[in-house]
Amino acid sequence: MRRTRRRIRPALAVAVVAALVFAACTDGGDERGDFRPGAADLADPYVPGAGNGGYDVAGYRLAVRYDPATDRLSGRATLTATATAALSRFNLDLAGLDVSRVAVDGRPAGSARDGDELVVTPRDGLSRGARFTVEVDYSGVPAAKTDGQLGSGGFLHTADGAIALGQPWSAATWFPVNDHPSDKATYDIEVTVPEGLAALSNGVPGQRTSADGWTTWRWAERAPMASYLTTLVIGDYRVQSGTHAGRPMVTAVPASLPATGPEAASLARTGEIADFLATRFGPYPFDSYGGVVVTDGRVGYALETQSRPVYGPGFFRGGRPNLGVVAHELAHQWFGNSVALSRWSDIWLNEGFASYAEWLWEEHDGGRTAQRTFELEYVGTDWSRPSVDPGRSRLFGAAVYKRGALAVHALRRTVGDDTFFRILRTWTAERRDGNATTDDLVALAERVAGRPLRPVFDAWLVGGTAPALP
Ligand SMILES: [Zn+2]
Repeated sequence: MRRTRRRIRPALAVAVVAALVFAACTDGGDERGDFRPGAADLADPYVPGAGNGGYDVAGYRLAVRYDPATDRLSGRATLTATATAALSRFNLDLAGLDVSRVAVDGRPAGSARDGDELVVTPRDGLSRGARFTVEVDYSGVPAAKTDGQLGSGGFLHTADGAIALGQPWSAATWFPVNDHPSDKATYDIEVTVPEGLAALSNGVPGQRTSADGWTTWRWAERAPMASYLTTLVIGDYRVQSGTHAGRPMVTAVPASLPATGPEAASLARTGEIADFLATRFGPYPFDSYGGVVVTDGRVGYALETQSRPVYGPGFFRGGRPNLGVVAHELAHQWFGNSVALSRWSDIWLNEGFASYAEWLWEEHDGGRTAQRTFELEYVGTDWSRPSVDPGRSRLFGAAVYKRGALAVHALRRTVGDDTFFRILRTWTAERRDGNATTDDLVALAERVAGRPLRPVFDAWLVGGTAPALP
């Protein structure tokens, strides 16, 4: 994610976080033999209530219909999951929306709502290790979320359609989900909208069909994806479909914008920038490329939604292409998406590397060298703020982005270019399609470099005073 910059300064405004209040389900009440309720959240203090315990989702099949005239969405979500404990019941995250039917393994199941939780009680308990499917039919007017962390997110109704987007969570506003990045899954997404409108989402485009004034757009993301990286953009868009490096490339800008404006010109560089990053980070991790620009002013950020980042309007106000933000969001495809967080306190693993990718791109593009940017940023850094576990109110703060990027470059200066880029490529290869923590990165860096590096990471990421320049 990157916020819109009002000026050309990397220091970003500090997020204000309103407390998220979730109704937590209490345990107990319906144990059946050894079967117990799955946990109602994953105890990640950065996103209270988000995610659920007791199962692991392998895939989501979503079929939704959205009518901008009424703002109503109706859908069926089919989840394929494995029980990681013997379950008498389990929770899904779902914000608002009405559930009309739930089935587990094809048999009607009990369901109840508790705040932003959908509690599902299968007819029989699920044994540990059991693979099962859950079908949920639901409908309603999806809502935005206003937790303040990242401005407006969730499901935003627009003049001609809708935008579903947001970090650290947003998916639960439009489908039932285990809404935490630690449970990645594949997605098949089918979106039916009035004919003439586009419905963009993640991954490889499938067959598009029309009937009775409605068009169904199909998308498939085969690489495991964290739920906050899903997106839905519906409206009157100028969609460009092609290929890059043998893979589908789909970009879109609102039809209200000129075909040759800064937005389209920036998206047109997507393949070239991804190729550049691949020379530094290793092979591009997904089977499609793309990007979507939106004009809705409530989206004051860009988000690295998997394989197809969404860019808010603020990045293009200067009237010129903005390649820095494209480099940032594309870098996340490796750092954050393919190698995803296990917990939100490690968000610098996403933002430090994505910010660093902007430095690399700028140097490659004939601008300032990464070394010079490092020197300039070092001077203005507040070392009292840690990159790791920055606190919920600073999830998107300078210590995560700028200090994180400084730590990355400090590692490079410490181990030298060859070892540094070998560390990065080993990380993206070994952790591809998975999840990881800061400790995992330190251990891998030490292994690849063949020397202790913990003191370097500690000094640059969490130390309370300015580290000596390497
Ligand atoms: Zn970012």
